[in-house]
Amino acid sequence: AAKQSGRDRVDRYRPELDSDALSRIKLTSLLRQAAERSQLTFVAQPKVKADGRVVGCELLVRWTTKEFGAVSPVSFIPIAEETGIILTIGHQAIREAALLARQLQQTGQQISVAINLSPLQIRDPQLEQVLLSACREADISPMCIQIELTESAFLDSKQVTGLLLHTLKAHGFVLALDDFGTGYSSLSYLRDLPFDVIKIDRAFLHDIDRDERSAKLLAGIVDLCRALDMETVAEGLESRSQLAVLSQLGIGEYQGFYFHKPMAQSDFIALVKDASPQHPA
Ligand code: C2E
Ligand code: MG
Ligand code: MG
Ligand code: MG
Repeated sequence: AAKQSGRDRVDRYRPELDSDALSRIKLTSLLRQAAERSQLTFVAQPKVKADGRVVGCELLVRWTTKEFGAVSPVSFIPIAEETGIILTIGHQAIREAALLARQLQQTGQQISVAINLSPLQIRDPQLEQVLLSACREADISPMCIQIELTESAFLDSKQVTGLLLHTLKAHGFVLALDDFGTGYSSLSYLRDLPFDVIKIDRAFLHDIDRDERSAKLLAGIVDLCRALDMETVAEGLESRSQLAVLSQLGIGEYQGFYFHKPMAQSDFIALVKDASPQHPA
């Protein structure tokens, strides 16, 4: 449906939309070219424990063009999904995640690497093999790789998704439900799908230190996850006072500008090495 409306927007003549439509067409062709030439890059945002110890990272795609400068994934990921370009981007993400996991393993620490998968990738029949061969080539265990999915990824076909997720989990991949709480039917996903990790969207964090209802809601979510044996990650943590509330609730891991912004993968490796007991600073 999204694909269809995307096309309609381009076909129908509406003068006021001309520049939008044109820049979208331009953006799409630039994106296709960039993806095919592996010109997109992936930065790593650390995930830490409450005391700051690094336990993993999430790879986030970045794209810079001559014409438009840095384009946010929030703008181009939807285009990449509608056009199928996301499959090319996704394959690169999977390869890079496996190679990064390999380098991290060589530091002697257990550090996970997460990637984001889009709805289209979940329906890609090659996904399982692409993931497995990336792990094989990098000589790492699937347990080092976390797969982040948002609810929108399985709104239309929960059964197909469920089968795939059980298969991936059986291989050892770690499954995370991203942006928890912002979509629909969250609780039935928790019941039916085998997630290991819940990433609580930052929408639930922003007034946690000022609003008692927000704090209570979050406390309930944490209890629920504990009962279901799922790890919790707080996304978009920006302040010390948020951390104080969240760590009190017993959230397991934190990701946000308060600790670290997304960084070059080489900087992330350096960060992990600095913290390593085998490599005292
Ligand atoms: P996400 O997976 O929920 O990623 C978290 C987003 O929040 C990232 O934005 C990150 O830079 C941002 N963020 C992290 N900490 C903070 C904070 O403390 N405050 C604020 N305000 N923001 C914070 P980014 O990199 O712009 O990515 C946006 C979304 O684009 C991602 O949300 C994800 O859904 C999608 N995305 C990014 N990379 C990929 C990719 O490689 N593949 C796919 N399919 N989607 C991707
Ligand atoms: Mg994510
Ligand atoms: Mg998220
Ligand atoms: Mg998000």
